[in-house]
Amino acid sequence: MCDTRFYAWGVAARFVFYVHCARCGNMNLERVSRERVATGLRLLGASLFRMRGYRCDQCRGRFFSLRPYKKITPTRTAPAGVASQTGLEAASAGAKSRS
Ligand SMILES: [Zn+2]
Repeated sequence: MCDTRFYAWGVAARFVFYVHCARCGNMNLERVSRERVATGLRLLGASLFRMRGYRCDQCRGRFFSLRPYKKITPTRTAPAGVASQTGLEAASAGAKSRS
């Protein structure tokens, strides 16, 4: 038995290379101007490297990132296959009631 502590990442391994919030792992971020993220030397450095400014709505954190942006929002409804099947059934039921 080892005494090493293991920590989980904030995001799934396949999304680590996309921009995400370092605090909470949120990927549904809002792009903001660099001036709203930092001032002074940090702003100058971010401008030099053309880093983009992001704001996390969940934890209100603001940060710069060079990673590519990919908006991933958590699903709160049934999977797409199930939803389309039930939608199809509802449409056919509506057609039957009209005739
Ligand atoms: Zn966050």
